[in-house]
Amino acid sequence: MSERSVAGTPFNGGGRPSRSFGRGRVCKEPGCETRLSMYNSGKYCSQHEPLTVPRTRGKKIA
Ligand SMILES: [Zn+2]
Repeated sequence: MSERSVAGTPFNGGGRPSRSFGRGRVCKEPGCETRLSMYNSGKYCSQHEPLTVPRTRGKKIA
């Protein structure tokens, strides 16, 4: 049974690497040497990144 139906997943077989934002980058916050994820499009680590998107805390958007 070799049924591999990957619908809507352009991975595997493409040969192209996933889009990344560079490796070995660190947080731009002075003194912070936290490495950023390859997939982190920001310049700061999760602790120092500016809060742009307010999280819905306690608010239920029904
Ligand atoms: Zn940082």
